[in-house]
Amino acid sequence: MLALRFATVRRLSTLNGVAAAANSAASATTQSAITPSTPTSKPQEFDVGVIGGGIVGMATARELSLRLPQLRIAVFEKESGLGAHQTGHNSGVIHAGIYYKPGSLKAKLCVEGLRLTYDYCDKKNIPYKKCGKLIVARSEEEIPGLKALFDRGQQNNVPDLRMIGVDEMKRIEPHCVGVQAIHSPVTGIVDWLQVTNSYADDFTANERNRVLTNHEVTSLDSVDPLNPRAYQHGVVVSFKSKPAVRCRYIITCAGMNSDRIAQKAGGQSEPVMVPIRGEYLTLKPDRRNLVNGLIYPVPDPTLPFLGVHFTPTMKGDVLLGPNAVFAFAREGYKFFDINPRDMFSALLFPGFQRLALKYWKFGMGEMYRSRFLSAQVKLLQDYVPEVTINDVQRGMAGIRAQAMDHHGNLVDDFVFETAVQPEGGPAASRTAHLLHVRNAPSPGATSSLAIAKVISDKAQEMFNLRQA
Ligand SMILES: Cc1cc2nc3c(=O)[nH]c(=O)nc-3n(C[C@H](O)[C@H](O)[C@H](O)COP(=O)(O)OP(=O)(O)OC[C@H]3O[C@@H](n4cnc5c(N)ncnc54)[C@H](O)[C@@H]3O)c2cc1C
Repeated sequence: MLALRFATVRRLSTLNGVAAAANSAASATTQSAITPSTPTSKPQEFDVGVIGGGIVGMATARELSLRLPQLRIAVFEKESGLGAHQTGHNSGVIHAGIYYKPGSLKAKLCVEGLRLTYDYCDKKNIPYKKCGKLIVARSEEEIPGLKALFDRGQQNNVPDLRMIGVDEMKRIEPHCVGVQAIHSPVTGIVDWLQVTNSYADDFTANERNRVLTNHEVTSLDSVDPLNPRAYQHGVVVSFKSKPAVRCRYIITCAGMNSDRIAQKAGGQSEPVMVPIRGEYLTLKPDRRNLVNGLIYPVPDPTLPFLGVHFTPTMKGDVLLGPNAVFAFAREGYKFFDINPRDMFSALLFPGFQRLALKYWKFGMGEMYRSRFLSAQVKLLQDYVPEVTINDVQRGMAGIRAQAMDHHGNLVDDFVFETAVQPEGGPAASRTAHLLHVRNAPSPGATSSLAIAKVISDKAQEMFNLRQA
């Protein structure tokens, strides 16, 4: 497994190697005066820079600032607003944690994140709906898969999960067909962009902190480029058309660009991100009454994606989908959006070639269904037969940052990278000052408050940051 989790011997020894340096740097940080920014003066300085203003970056910056209010923290976001990519283009589900491998970070952080999200929304008066979710077996053949999923949910301690029969299923979703279902009443919906903006409000309530939008990070360099061991003095963060700043420590939460950003700072070459577009249809307004809550299929274990589902949103829409098609651009929300760099880097990556070879039939089917809506509607009719082509219209699309290795294995779990080079090399001292979130796929939004705690624990330990 290429994922570097927090407790490998090699990484710990690497971290120990820089502990003393990090120690003295950290105490200097909390004591030093920060130079205010003026156009001609020294670069602006921050204790911690968080790259990426999606939900994971904002949750992390918020958590770290609440724990250590004496720090001056900046979030650097390349777009003009927060949550412009995965965070603002998702299904808006508060997941309960049913699907994930027991013992995985995903399982643990989703269940914890669910609870934290509801508590947070209650506290902040952010609207949500606990509309519940059905996972539906369409035939007897799908029942073993449904039962295995139910066992998984129980092992993951998902609250209030129940197996239900047809009568109860019909009471919950009168238009849905199937032979048996899992009911998860705690699954809900929320607007994750609203949640992200609320995290930003909490964060900027501390006047030391800054959210700097239109700040696209182009490089992460040592303060002294001639001395590769000088990272203990901080990192120079350069931007496209903005003055550089200095940060003592960096946390990268760059979503789809997490591989490229990590590599700018000596991170591992894998996992690589491949953009997979998920396109949604929506129910026309007069047919939204076909669905009350979320309706999901029993996932096919031979396929890497969940399958189309029905998802009401806080705006009142009902999303249908998503499918999964290769995107020709990392930010290519439309079918014909092409970015040659993104396209060729994915197509020439051996991992993607192997994956495409393995799933070519499924991939072609998804491309076909993407163009011909009647084919997509056919899949939906397996669950709600009354839906017809006249009831649907094209909706939004999201781009999934699909992490994979060079064998074509999909990286499923959350991945955080703390050190990647053997001790003694130039990157070893650099990585003592950098922490990378390398993979934060779904249910990353649900898990964001729990992920933020894990990252903040690690940042405090690794950067030796203590309360004043
Ligand atoms: C189609 C789809 C549906 C989903 N549905 C759900 C769901 O229902 N529930 C759920 O819990 N999760 C869902 N997810 C997953 C969830 O959206 C993600 O896990 C989460 O948004 C990841 O947040 P992030 O902050 O890591 O990434 P992002 O939101 O992508 O944020 C990364 C940020 O980094 C910025 N950035 C990148 N490069 C740079 C740079 N060089 N300089 C500065 N900034 C940079 C980007 O502009 C971006 O704003 C879904 C995902 C997709 C794609």
